[in-house]
Amino acid sequence: MSFEGKYNAKSPAVKRLMREAKELHDATDEYYAYPLEENLFEWHFTVQGPPSTDFEGGIYHGKILLPPEYPMKPPNIILLTPNGRFEIKKKICLSISGHHPETWQPSWSIRTALLALIAFMPTPGNGTVGSLDYSPIERQQLSKKSLNWYCDSCGKIADLLSYNKVKKPITEEEQHMLNTISLKGDVSISQDMPYLSNADIVEENELRHRNNINNLNAENEPEILNPPIEVISYSKDFLWSLLIAILIFAIILLLIRRLFLL
Ligand SMILES: [Zn+2]
Repeated sequence: MSFEGKYNAKSPAVKRLMREAKELHDATDEYYAYPLEENLFEWHFTVQGPPSTDFEGGIYHGKILLPPEYPMKPPNIILLTPNGRFEIKKKICLSISGHHPETWQPSWSIRTALLALIAFMPTPGNGTVGSLDYSPIERQQLSKKSLNWYCDSCGKIADLLSYNKVKKPITEEEQHMLNTISLKGDVSISQDMPYLSNADIVEENELRHRNNINNLNAENEPEILNPPIEVISYSKDFLWSLLIAILIFAIILLLIRRLFLL
């Protein structure tokens, strides 16, 4: 597919997405993702359920919506295949865990997002927005059913992954990213009241725990914590709205005073 000429090739988002589309061009047996023919900012993906879990053997399909500011802002993931862990047709946000849960690292990519999604499937939902806590039997049944699931744009999803055991091993850097990444439902209130939304990261400890078993380097992770870009811009927005609210309040107060004086 060719996007040349259709998008501004100088836009960082376009450049980056074209590069990622090239890198992800070949399906692996774990995941496959590609932009829609008509929209570079909407991708469809397919992931294999992680082995030795209730999702083993399952194939799950979904959409990735990229914001115009990508990679400065994170992608949104939407699962479409019923799976028993994430609600379908709902945005799942990727964010960093720890002290700045709202931040996303521009060095992360669609591949990182998919790896994080796979890693998160077996973790407990703990009632987080967008999470489901179906029983193991229900999840196993859904994983079997998923093989017959069709996407209107992509066809039978069971045919989309490579079965040649094509693997791209997780690099040390990616392992670090996975240690710090967390997933949560899209709390729509967070757009308007961002200062309320830092609380509901429940899943990070579980993932970290799982990763610590495989990776003894986890204690190095603070090195890759960048400044919390999202948090800064959120608090700026908040200050602006506060200032405007004060101004409006002052004007109303003056009007009322005037009315009473007349
Ligand atoms: Zn599709």
